[in-house]
Amino acid sequence: MCSHHREESDRENTPQLPVDAQDDVLPRDIPHRTTFYDSVVERQMSQADAKLFYQRSQLDDSRSSVAGEPAPSASYNDPVAALATGSGLEHDEDTELPGSFGKSPRAGVDSVRIAAEASRGISNNFLDSQPQVTAELSSISKSIEDIIALRQKYLALSLQRPEDDPKNSPDWEIYPYGDESGDDFDMEHCMPLPPNDDSMTYKLSDGGVYEIFQNDDSQALAFSAPTIRQFYMDLDSILLASSDGPSKSFAFRRLQYLEGKFNLYALLNEYQETADSKKVPHRDFYNVRKVDTHVHHSASMNQKHLLRFIKSRMKKNPDEVVLFRDGKHLTLAEVFASINLTAYDLSIDTLDMHAHTDSFHRFDKFNLKYNPIGESRLREIFLKTDNLIKGRYLAELTKEVISDLEASKYQMAEWRLSIYGRSLDEWDKLAAWVVDNKLFSQNVRWLIQVPRLYDVYKDNGLMESFEQIVTNVFQPLFEVTKDPSSHPKLHIFLQRVVGIDTVDDESKIERRLYRKFPVPREWSTKQNPPYNYWIYYLFSNIASLNFLRKKRGFNTLILRPHCAEAGDPEHLAAATLCCHSISHGVLLRKVPLLQYVFYLEQIGVAMSPLSNNALFLSYDRNPFPQYFKRGLNVSLSTDDPLQFAFTKEPLMEEYAVAAQIYKLSPTDMCELAKNSVLQSGYEAAVKRHWLGPCFDKPGKEGNTMAKTNVPDRREEFRYHTLLTEREVLSRYAAFNTNAEQRNAKSDLTAQTPSGNLPSSSATEPASSITSPTSTSEQGLPPRSTSNSVADAHISGSDPMIFPGIWSRDPSRRNLTKMDSWGVQSTELPTSPDTE
Ligand SMILES: [Zn+2]
Repeated sequence: MCSHHREESDRENTPQLPVDAQDDVLPRDIPHRTTFYDSVVERQMSQADAKLFYQRSQLDDSRSSVAGEPAPSASYNDPVAALATGSGLEHDEDTELPGSFGKSPRAGVDSVRIAAEASRGISNNFLDSQPQVTAELSSISKSIEDIIALRQKYLALSLQRPEDDPKNSPDWEIYPYGDESGDDFDMEHCMPLPPNDDSMTYKLSDGGVYEIFQNDDSQALAFSAPTIRQFYMDLDSILLASSDGPSKSFAFRRLQYLEGKFNLYALLNEYQETADSKKVPHRDFYNVRKVDTHVHHSASMNQKHLLRFIKSRMKKNPDEVVLFRDGKHLTLAEVFASINLTAYDLSIDTLDMHAHTDSFHRFDKFNLKYNPIGESRLREIFLKTDNLIKGRYLAELTKEVISDLEASKYQMAEWRLSIYGRSLDEWDKLAAWVVDNKLFSQNVRWLIQVPRLYDVYKDNGLMESFEQIVTNVFQPLFEVTKDPSSHPKLHIFLQRVVGIDTVDDESKIERRLYRKFPVPREWSTKQNPPYNYWIYYLFSNIASLNFLRKKRGFNTLILRPHCAEAGDPEHLAAATLCCHSISHGVLLRKVPLLQYVFYLEQIGVAMSPLSNNALFLSYDRNPFPQYFKRGLNVSLSTDDPLQFAFTKEPLMEEYAVAAQIYKLSPTDMCELAKNSVLQSGYEAAVKRHWLGPCFDKPGKEGNTMAKTNVPDRREEFRYHTLLTEREVLSRYAAFNTNAEQRNAKSDLTAQTPSGNLPSSSATEPASSITSPTSTSEQGLPPRSTSNSVADAHISGSDPMIFPGIWSRDPSRRNLTKMDSWGVQSTELPTSPDTE
């Protein structure tokens, strides 16, 4: 992927043209130097030039250090030494950690030096000798910061940040807690339920989103989520930035740099990390807490377990009536007779639920694997919560899985249960199933998955429009939040629900019938709405719901959808905008800019390489190890143990295979386990118990090695690497703003900035450098001239022309007026390993 991607980026940035052909080409096609590539130098640099170039750069270095920048240490240009001294370990000014290399005596200049070191990862100097290069970096940084600002706005608005959730406050009561098992659960303990809240009312708007109103004389709107128009505009701006060539190159390079930095860190510190781990008594990988952050409940048991369970029910009560089909009630024995099987015949092979060889790229086939022996009636009896026996078998099976988890003590799971949105009573049935069967455990939290199956219901005549799904999924939640006694069991169940997920085959094609999407009430075609449309209606209604729940002091819900398992990488833009975290994310490898944003924002990604291996991406090509090295917030999860796992402990199997194939060290495994706890929806009190008192603080400060078994040096390395990236970014972004402000005041004082380096540090950019961004925005000089500065492609402010794909009239800057609101996935960098 690497080399291919680089080639593609370069091609976009600098069309390869012979120099003498420049008279015949459009001004915009004349090769200009970009951040990472200088076509002129590439072609003309002879040996002698190279020597001069080297000498000049030496001169620049000495000049900048004379001018006040701290003198670089001798190891400055040596990446290995620079890593050891410059970023990884030098922050341990106290000599707590033995073995730190090259400790810096100058604590005060650390931050400056880090920034200088990091900016070297981008170009030779903070301010390049050619203004458009610096300006380009600046506008790239700006557009990345804009994406982050948008995300933060959406998350804050929808109360999805950890600090927004009342269950993370110190006085939140968790019941049952600790070693109390589900059998001890007593509904009386939860009584009396909180009273009805009359101060607010809710109403479904014409746009398909619940709105909250003050219930006083004013009847004022208390809360309304961003409109779908706003959502698509924001989504557009993210898509635009993420498909911009120079930005892609930039993000790609930064990610490569991060990966290299980690490799060097590991090389230098592996021994010491092992030594640190050995010093911690009792704790090892097996007894650090790990949460299975993505697992579907009805596939949470392994096959052997399911088989044993089916056989035992066949032996114990063959005469129990379990199914109503074709107008008559059937006993278990009759069901087996109807499919011509006895208990003895059953084996893993006849069960045929493993998805390994025949389901690759066949999500349809994989879905059929949910049916034991290919028989949907066995699935109906054993794996459904809502059936003739009220899901009793599945509840019994669940209890067995829970007791396995509790016996292992250190393994937890976040199980997905389905709410389909077919009828209004689904929530009540599901809550009753959980509460009546006392399926509570410290080792288990729940998420609700909403399968995106509107087209199926529509086909079956179950509903008229998409609005019914919105109503069926959300109305009971608003009712129970306003008045818990309206659905008592749902109120109790919801306290153990951490978020909403959405699932379906992402690889299905999404056709766009409309330029402007209709609101849910008018969405009555047979076609399933696209992914982003689903996400918007889940997000906006969760935002309203959370507003009401937080006001009442109830726990809030977060959006953690399946995303980027397959299909259009565009789904990632929606996730970046409005999701707390995602499951899968393998397609982030094709969208470097968003991957970089995921890194900067530490958006959680629950990955399941074994599941991907069976369905969409072979194990050795999974980007998981790459993400991990780069410092993305990844965890390992099992997805569907019933289909993918062979052993009794599927989560350990997932870790074990990853460790073997990707050669993860014990420290890596413990870091992944810690990530999984942090990503999970467990209450802060539980996380504190598992990870240590300051678990929510970054770096060494938040790490309690006696609990996590992750060495402090690893935490410090991760944290300071992240800080450095953020700092470099904000520096460049600030440069753009400063320059624009200056230009607004003064005349355009374009000078030849070559060699005119900033006097001292990068915090004070040279005023003589005119930002071409503002130049072109003021309409001077016009684009038609061949002025090199005006025609330089400045990402973020000037549209990149993708030949043959789409172009945009420069005068029509307003995104809302664009002909299409999306970009084609073909614009995104594709790699040779595209499946
Ligand atoms: Zn899944």
